[in-house]
Amino acid sequence: HAKHLGGNTYRFFTRELRAYSLERLQLENQLRKAIEDNQLVVHYQPKLHLNDDSISGAEALVRWQHPQRGLVMPGDFIDMAEETGLIIALGDAVLHKACRQASHWYHQGPTPVCVSVNLSVQQLRQSHFARRVQHILEECQLPAEYLELELTESMFLEHVDAVAHNIAELRAMGIRLAVDDFGTGYSSLAYLKRFPVDTLKIDRVFVTDLGQHSQDAAITRAIIAMAHSLDLRVVAEGVERDVQLAYLKQYGCDEVQGYLISRPLSAADFTAMLQEHRGLMN
Ligand code: C2E
Ligand code: MG
Ligand code: MG
Ligand code: MG
Repeated sequence: HAKHLGGNTYRFFTRELRAYSLERLQLENQLRKAIEDNQLVVHYQPKLHLNDDSISGAEALVRWQHPQRGLVMPGDFIDMAEETGLIIALGDAVLHKACRQASHWYHQGPTPVCVSVNLSVQQLRQSHFARRVQHILEECQLPAEYLELELTESMFLEHVDAVAHNIAELRAMGIRLAVDDFGTGYSSLAYLKRFPVDTLKIDRVFVTDLGQHSQDAAITRAIIAMAHSLDLRVVAEGVERDVQLAYLKQYGCDEVQGYLISRPLSAADFTAMLQEHRGLMN
């Protein structure tokens, strides 16, 4: 009887696995085609300066305009793209689109916007990556100061020469570097000395419970104080409620990003917001 059960279990699992990998393979092929067919869309989420409520920049966030499934969010395909290596072509497409858009805002208005683009470590491991970025900036006629690249803490600890080389070269080109999801990765801060970055983005997990008598307030304050003593700007991610904003202001945080300010917007909606915002500021 046990043998019989085991046989069934085995058959069951292979069937499940086969279905799973078939679906994966389809998704992988669809994504490969989506990159070629230009189905990737970039949305832009504004960041706000807390001292004067001006827009300090925009984070470029990829979406997949899928012909059947509609707008697919990165949480549903970034991991697969990382595992299959498609992230390199995807990341290149996003970088190109984001620079073209930033160039449009710079040359056509309504106002220049610094655009932040998320990178995968696989892009940074390419020996020619910094040169590729230089090429894109030239092609788009975008000054380097209007591009920021978001890296995660673990990337600074990569034991691949090309990574350190690219980081140094990008920085020398005048491109801003930000540490994304700060506080959730490695606890060693030594990399901040070796790799001078410009910005720390405090991860959403520390912002969520601000004002609820949690340890997060102490952590957030400490991150802001440390960043400022190293001459770094601090951006708080995932700001959703007024109370969080009030605490961040009190702690001297420089910039905020989150649904309270705005959800990520299409390029057209972001442009409209810039126009309105400029009207308000004048
Ligand atoms: P991330 O870089 O930390 O981006 C912030 C994420 O938080 C975005 O999710 C954004 O929509 C979301 N968010 C912003 N404000 C709020 C808020 O107030 N509350 C909450 N709950 N969430 C908020 P999204 O667009 O789904 O992207 C998720 C992640 O996917 C990004 O996290 C980033 O790690 C990755 N990703 C997105 N685009 C790219 C890309 O072009 N390349 C790479 N390598 N990764 C990307
Ligand atoms: Mg990011
Ligand atoms: Mg983040
Ligand atoms: Mg994140």
